[in-house]
Amino acid sequence: MDILLKNAQIITLNENDDIIREGSIGIRGNKIDHIGSGEQDSDTGYSKVIDCKGRTVMPGFVNAHNHLAMTLFRNYADDMNLMDWLFKKIFPLEDKLTEDAVYWASLLAMVEMIKSGTTTFSDMYFFMEETARATSESGMRAVLSRGLQGESGEEGIDYRLRENLELFDKYHNSFNERIKVMLGPHSVYTCGEPYLKKVAAKSRERGIPIQIHLSETGEEVKNCINKYGKSPVKHLDSLGLLNEGTVAAHCVAVDDSDIDILAARKVNVVHNPGSNMKLASGAAPIVKMLGRGINICLGTDGASSNNNLDMLEEMRMAAYLQKVHTGDPSALPVNEVMRMATAGGAEALGFESTGSLEEGKTADIIVLNTKKAHYYPKYNIKSAIVYSGSSADVETVIIDGSLVMEGGCLVTLDEERILYETQKWASKLTE
Ligand SMILES: [Zn+2]
Repeated sequence: MDILLKNAQIITLNENDDIIREGSIGIRGNKIDHIGSGEQDSDTGYSKVIDCKGRTVMPGFVNAHNHLAMTLFRNYADDMNLMDWLFKKIFPLEDKLTEDAVYWASLLAMVEMIKSGTTTFSDMYFFMEETARATSESGMRAVLSRGLQGESGEEGIDYRLRENLELFDKYHNSFNERIKVMLGPHSVYTCGEPYLKKVAAKSRERGIPIQIHLSETGEEVKNCINKYGKSPVKHLDSLGLLNEGTVAAHCVAVDDSDIDILAARKVNVVHNPGSNMKLASGAAPIVKMLGRGINICLGTDGASSNNNLDMLEEMRMAAYLQKVHTGDPSALPVNEVMRMATAGGAEALGFESTGSLEEGKTADIIVLNTKKAHYYPKYNIKSAIVYSGSSADVETVIIDGSLVMEGGCLVTLDEERILYETQKWASKLTE
């Protein structure tokens, strides 16, 4: 379907950061073939024309760190520290999960993400074939990883790595390259050294980037130093796991020498302010890392440590947290945080053809209704979206040139059925 968005205010997030006061975007196939101000000469040739009067159009959000199926544990165990929450509440429940549960929970996350303007996500979990199936159905763009855990390189635990490699062979660059696959070693505290070495070797051999939780808490760092004599960043670096394609979530408890390594290896860092605040993990030194030229992107983390997948809210929390953390109200300004939530994530996940609105780029686009009281009077539209916007303002979502939500109605997913099935699963898991 060729789509024309007309009469729109357009936040391009291109190199010049152009904002078009009133213009149009033409989409042919999955590409943006025209973007500009003023009236489009003619509507003809487009099978679908959407009048965006009073609306603002911008690139879709990229949620660069998530565990989709953890939507099933949303509001199940709150107000706990990371290790107690993980080992006492979450891991026992995860043992009861089935393929069907993960399928429906993944779809639940996708309903929430699409409705709040996210077009791309990165996921690390298990039964990932089910998430791949859900992704293909929803039309979303994704990086998928099988979460890897294990103490040694022995046979018994190799099935996880094998599943991750099978996922890569089957789904990498599938569905018009909407799906990519990475390796997903969970963390230094759930993966032993021989196991991480094995993952590093596979990553090099097959050219598959990795994503990992890294230095999420002070406790993780302390335990790692006790066990290996070095910080998690230095430990992973010594094992060859940090390089240009690596996506490291959190990086809260990192010192200057860790930051030097992350910068030198060109690691992508995912900031998860909501999860870090809720679990009292601390504030990642984002301003410092940005100053060192590290690509920072934004993620919500799983829905049970956030507890939603709302990237608009995440942008605001990121900005506020850095201001409090540095004592400087000019820290992490609007332009920077919006770039993290879009182009930063696209770059980290290898979807460089998305993340900004430019001719020739892939059409991952959202339309927000900005003709609402909380956007008035109008000064700076980017400030208005970050500081006063709401995910409920997202009306229309286009991914890979296809409409997945139009005027608030989901096109690809049956929301009613998904809510029913996930509630059924939640009752079954906790009975
Ligand atoms: Zn996580």
